[in-house]
Amino acid sequence: MIIDCHTHINNYHNETQESLSEDLDKLQKEMRRNRVDIALVLTSYKVSPGRPSTRAVVEATRDLPNLHVVAGICYTTFAPGDLVEIRDFIKEGSVKGLKLYPGYKPFYPADHKLEPLYRLAAECDVPVMIHSGDTYSPRGKVKYAHPLHVDDVAVDYPDVTFVICHIGNPWIRDCMEVVFKNKNVYTDISGLVLGNFKDRFQRFMMKQLQEMLLFGVEPTKVLFGSDWPISSMESYLRFMEDLAIPASDKKKIMYENTARLFKLDVAGSGLKRNSLLDRLK
Ligand SMILES: [Zn+2]
Repeated sequence: MIIDCHTHINNYHNETQESLSEDLDKLQKEMRRNRVDIALVLTSYKVSPGRPSTRAVVEATRDLPNLHVVAGICYTTFAPGDLVEIRDFIKEGSVKGLKLYPGYKPFYPADHKLEPLYRLAAECDVPVMIHSGDTYSPRGKVKYAHPLHVDDVAVDYPDVTFVICHIGNPWIRDCMEVVFKNKNVYTDISGLVLGNFKDRFQRFMMKQLQEMLLFGVEPTKVLFGSDWPISSMESYLRFMEDLAIPASDKKKIMYENTARLFKLDVAGSGLKRNSLLDRLK
């Protein structure tokens, strides 16, 4: 089984062009070709014709049991009232996590404005994914995206689970420390490359990932994700295949950790929403 915990259906090349159904098709095709069973789709920090809203993605994926939605939050326009809709989506099982984009927007994760969001994450027990490291756009301000800032919220909100995206690249050692120190912090390996890995860069990144595990980051804390369509799914799977770590650790990284953290039904029932029993709780 393979779960890609980090994909997007944004139309990066032409933000004025409607793309939702076309890009969902592309994602599904890419998953089939690479035998990826389940993917989390992360919605953007902005809404434009090429970047559909969380509601639009929830509705479009409602009958697609292999796709789950993580709701992107825009720091600039965020108001606690926005959480009403997201809370409903979480309760019905159609949103599985939240995603913040520091760096793309100028704010630190510990900004007080976000307190209601962390309280919701704790209440509903859904992970908060936090962009970290380099920004795809040169307009981003990377000081906000340093993985050390995740330590602040990890300590202040011990009941919330955090995922540092992109292993904080290039601040991988800093990410390593934050994941190692905090039992509620995980990391995903997505988005390390634009397109395909080149041999030398692949070896360089593998060494860093192995170093991270050697340093003491538990393999239960690392999640497989590609960042498709920015990175190639195929190239990412080759990267994982070539990674010299025990098969049992690979299994954790490829799907077990993500399934547990985001409470995904991987038993093959095809049920997307929470069971009736869950909803009655
Ligand atoms: Zn991403």
